[in-house]
Formats: sequence, C-alpha cells, structure tokens
Amino acid sequence: MDEFKFIDSIKQNTYKQPSLLKGIGDDAAVFRQNYQDVVTAVDTFVENVHFSRKTMDPYHIGYRVLAANISDMAAMGATPAYYMISIVIPENWSESELQQIYQGMDRIASTYKMDLIGGDTVGGSELVVSITIIGFVDKQKARYRSTMQDGDVLFVTGTLGDAAAGLHLLTSDKNDLVQDNNYLIDRHRLPTPRVAFAQALSTLERVTLNDISDGIANEASELATASNLTVQLYYEKLPKHPKLKQFSSEQQRAFQLFGGEDFELVGSVPQKDWDSVLQAAKKTAVKISEIGNVLYEPNGSNNVFLIENGKKHVLEKGGYTHRS
Ligand code: ADP
Ligand code: MG
Repeated sequence: MDEFKFIDSIKQNTYKQPSLLKGIGDDAAVFRQNYQDVVTAVDTFVENVHFSRKTMDPYHIGYRVLAANISDMAAMGATPAYYMISIVIPENWSESELQQIYQGMDRIASTYKMDLIGGDTVGGSELVVSITIIGFVDKQKARYRSTMQDGDVLFVTGTLGDAAAGLHLLTSDKNDLVQDNNYLIDRHRLPTPRVAFAQALSTLERVTLNDISDGIANEASELATASNLTVQLYYEKLPKHPKLKQFSSEQQRAFQLFGGEDFELVGSVPQKDWDSVLQAAKKTAVKISEIGNVLYEPNGSNNVFLIENGKKHVLEKGGYTHRS
C-alpha cells in the first residue's frame, strides 16, 4: 500500500472548525484557541482485545472507536473539535477495509462537526487504532468526577445494559439471533455519546459527570472514590429498555450493572438543580432517570451501595474492565 496515496485519500478536502490553521499535510497540525479551555484524551483499541472482526465490520470499528473518545468529551462537558489517528496496519488488512474504518470515523465525526487533523501510519502484526481527541469547554466549566457533594441526586441518561446485550447476541449461537434485535446490536456497534445533553447542563454551577464505558457499578465507584463520598443506587430505578426483557433476570442484572460500553452519562447535581437537568434532557431528547443519591458516611466513604428488593448491600465493581 502506498502510504502517501492512502493519506491523501482519507484527507478532508475542507475543514469545519474555525480555529484550525493547518490540518493534514505538514509536520504537525496547528489550531488557535483564545477563549476556552482545551480538553484532550487518547484511547487505544487493539484487535481481539477491544474489538473483533467477528462482531464488527471495519466501518463499525471506526465509528465505535471515535464514539468512545467523543463520549469522554461529553463526560468532561466539552465540545469535541479535532481528532488524530495513530494506526498500526497488519498485512492482511486490505486498503478498502482501512477506508471503511475511516468512513465509520468520518460518519460520526461529521455529526459533531469534527475535523481529522493528523495521524501516523505504521505496519505491524495486528490492527491497532489509537485516537487522540481534542475539544473545548468554557473556562472553569470542565466537569470533574471529584465534585459530588452530600445530598446530590444521582442520575443516568438512556438505558443501561443495551450494548452488553447486543454484544451477547452477536457472540452467542446464531440460532438465538432474533430478527428484531438490531436495536441492541446497534447500541454495541454504533453508540451515541451524550454530548448535547452535557452541553445543555453548561449553565449549572456544579455537575459531576462520568461516561459509562465499564458498567454503572464501576463508574459509580469511580465517582464515589474521586469525591470521597458514598453512592446509593436503587436497582429498581435503573432504566431498562423493553428489549432487555427477553433475557433472564440474572442476565438483565449483569448487563445493567456490569455491562460496559453503553456510553451513557452518570452524574450528580444538587437537589435544587434537578429540575434543570430534567429540562436539559427534554431539550436534547435524551431519556433521564434519577437512580440514587450521594451521601456522606463517616465510615462508608468510597463505597457504592445497591438497594435491591428493599435490602441494601455493597455493590462490588465487578464490571468489565479493559485490559489496557
Ligand atoms: P512526518 O513524516 O512529518 O511525520 P507523515 O508522512 O507521517 O509526516 O504524515 C504526513 C501528514 O499526514 C501529517 O499531517 C500527518 O499528521 C498525516 N497522517 C499520517 N498518517 C495518518 C493517518 N493514518 N491518518 C491521518 N493522518 C495521517
Ligand atoms: Mg509521521
């Protein structure tokens, strides 16, 4: 494969971001930023560790990899603007398959008016896609995990466990595949980061946010630990899509509590701001649910409790965690 021709083929003809001074084609990209804070993150995805060609087409791989990065921006309250790709290409990947990865990324990037401004291309033994994302947030408005307070309302967007159920359907015996399960499968392959909803909260003084990449149990624990407080979740209040009800109650429970990669947002606000959160959700057409609360317990700090059938017990993280 001709690397020069390949880069030329994936290069955007025009850029959308007004702050960009130089995109692909020089030694580095340049953008100018005067008025906002710059937010950046990187995620690396390795074939057969983070994704498999058995469950995803190259297009889905590209889409999902960038969606995960965009979700990190949403969780910071930031607006995504740019991304850069470092790709390790094995010999058994054809140029057209690589193009499809880029098409998947381009599809979701277009939705958010993002520009691809650079990357690096090397050969290797398995496909690795590493994306660096850059976004902007108004000064002092980045949303940190450490900002929860005693008495906060805990909420989550969307429904929980859909992506894990979708992956389960893709990896279980084909005979189990029911025709109308595309919804769950798409929730795994083509996730929707909650950028607009997080932006709609920008007028609030204090919002704590985290995105659900590793399951609600794990994310709630990250929030509790970062804020040094206790989180209480009510199992019966966890939002569930009707399609999840085709599974046994044990499976539903595992998908909802520990299933990863829904890329919904979990967070907390002071009680007085709960109405504003409801309005932000309505305005951005995002489902929102109150699922618990935040409290200070002298000896219970950093814990997550699950209240289920009226009984309260410690919720272990137990969620799926990436090996990286
Ligand atoms: P250099 O040798 O100066 O590092 P490269 O030949 O690696 O330059 O890259 C040339 C241009 O193409 C740069 O703007 C770089 O960011 C971009 N680029 C290289 N590989 C990729 C890729 N896989 N995806 C997107 N942009 C890339
Ligand atoms: Mg280079």
